[in-house]
Amino acid sequence: MLKINAFERLVEELRKLPGIGRKSAHRIVFHLLNQSGDRVLKLSDALVNLKKNIVFCSRCFNLSEDRLCWVCDDPDRSAAVCVVETVQDLIAIERTGDFSGRYHVLGGVISPLEGIGPEELRIRELLARFENETIEEVILATNFTVEGEATAMYIAKLLKKNAVRVFRIAYGLPVGGSLEYADEATMSKALEGRREM
Ligand code: ZN
Repeated sequence: MLKINAFERLVEELRKLPGIGRKSAHRIVFHLLNQSGDRVLKLSDALVNLKKNIVFCSRCFNLSEDRLCWVCDDPDRSAAVCVVETVQDLIAIERTGDFSGRYHVLGGVISPLEGIGPEELRIRELLARFENETIEEVILATNFTVEGEATAMYIAKLLKKNAVRVFRIAYGLPVGGSLEYADEATMSKALEGRREM
């Protein structure tokens, strides 16, 4: 413990970040102390800018700097919508380069234990998209956890009344595992092997 307030304050803030313990926090603070003032200012500016300029896409809830994200804004995307839990999952699928449609980010999964019901997710917003967009195919790409499966089933049932084909991505992804950490080949296979619900 260094008895310097400014030092400890930053250490405490850094320790609130994922994967950062006291040791790493100390290493980062010492590193920053060795940097020029200009360099540190650039970092703090990037941090402030992050919250100021990034919003959710008004259509799919991807991260965006405009009303529509770069995916929704792309006129060449197909009439398929891939439903994912998080923006990280969207990025994992984009990275494969195998999906040419658009997305819908739910913001989580139905989890009664954690008090998350369908109303807490962006399911209503997904259904509303059918009124303004041509959607021919929906691919449910929630994770293969109990909650992810239940959420996919729930949405599939709701979509039955829309004239749309509904698919579930294939297993091959680790059961209970997260899309976010799947390698590109596994993710591509999961998309390719999707089955109709
Ligand atoms: Zn979007």
